[in-house]
Amino acid sequence: MSLAALAPSLLVASQRIAERLTADRRHLHQHPELGFQEFETSRFVQRRLAELGIPFRVPIATTGVAAVIEGTAPGPGRTVLLRADMDALPIQEESDLPYRSTVAGVMHACGHDAHTAILLGAAEVLLGERRRFSGSVKLAFQPCEERFPGGALAMIEEGVLENPRVDAAFGLHCTPQLETGTLGYRAGPVSAASDRFTIRIRGKGGHAARPNSCVDAVVVAAQTVVMLQTLISRETSPIQPAVVTVGAIHAGDAHNVIPAEAEIRGTVRTYDVALRATLGQRVREVAEGVARTMRAEAEVLYTMGYPPLVNDPSMTRLARDSGIEVVGSDNVVEGEQALGGEDMAYFMQRVPGCFFRLGTGNRARGITFGNHHARFNVDDAALPIGVAAMCATALRFLARAEAA
Ligand SMILES: [Zn+2]
Ligand SMILES: [Zn+2]
Repeated sequence: MSLAALAPSLLVASQRIAERLTADRRHLHQHPELGFQEFETSRFVQRRLAELGIPFRVPIATTGVAAVIEGTAPGPGRTVLLRADMDALPIQEESDLPYRSTVAGVMHACGHDAHTAILLGAAEVLLGERRRFSGSVKLAFQPCEERFPGGALAMIEEGVLENPRVDAAFGLHCTPQLETGTLGYRAGPVSAASDRFTIRIRGKGGHAARPNSCVDAVVVAAQTVVMLQTLISRETSPIQPAVVTVGAIHAGDAHNVIPAEAEIRGTVRTYDVALRATLGQRVREVAEGVARTMRAEAEVLYTMGYPPLVNDPSMTRLARDSGIEVVGSDNVVEGEQALGGEDMAYFMQRVPGCFFRLGTGNRARGITFGNHHARFNVDDAALPIGVAAMCATALRFLARAEAA
């Protein structure tokens, strides 16, 4: 069977399990767990895999599950990894869905319940297609995406990319901005490096009417914020995306006292690795330099978050071609660049791959709330499409690798 003919049959196979996909997703939605605490979710995944007879490895990265499906077609074969994250967010769900979260203050508001259900569905469909491929499909059910340092790096450190060695990796993310039936792909960076800084300024406090005998931490902080803005406007190429945002300033608590200390907190978002390093260094230099010039001192704490997620151009082409086979070219769009963080980036640093967008919005049904919203929801009709897109991409990669 040709690849073009295979994708529709994958979609049929995925539609056939639609009811279970919905049931799984809703079950997980009702029982959300925070990062590295996905013990019940992990057990649920393990039970499903055991029912299918798919071997898996636990424990990995505390609550992660790594499974392998081996093709039975002749040929040397390579290995492709499909990834789903499993964690929920510390959000109180505000929807009145019958399957809303049963855990106070915890909610699947980013669709990781759907990602997990989709990967379980892909496991089942791929198992049925074993004789059509050689090589292996590795399934990574990953803990904790939402909170740095995340579960992806932990799984990699515990060997998820080895035995068999992974040649490419793919993942998807629910996107309510895209209607169900739509898939989004984009080559290059699709999520930003997300770093944080805290600047503590120490001056000299005193009476508001005697500024000459003080070193005013408020004025130093104000000058620092303005100078930080020039890092983008004057030091960064206008055609390179980057953000420096100061999100918090705290100093003083009286109208007639000059405070001795001030604290500034902010974030730096970048796509480019070199620019990321440069801005990190410049934030430090600016804060320390401004403080010194103004007779104060600055202490800078700079924390690197997730790296930027960069889609490989050729793997993105491959994934997009697979997506076109599933939903048709009219329903495949250019994916957006987001400035959020995503720890799938760690996989993409090590193996080529593509992280693509699954449309899960449905305006007619009122499914429009964005990720991390207390009324976020997923259109379950998108689940089989996600399964078919994942399977088609994996099989296309393995087929191409064989031909190469
Ligand atoms: Zn999220
Ligand atoms: Zn997410």
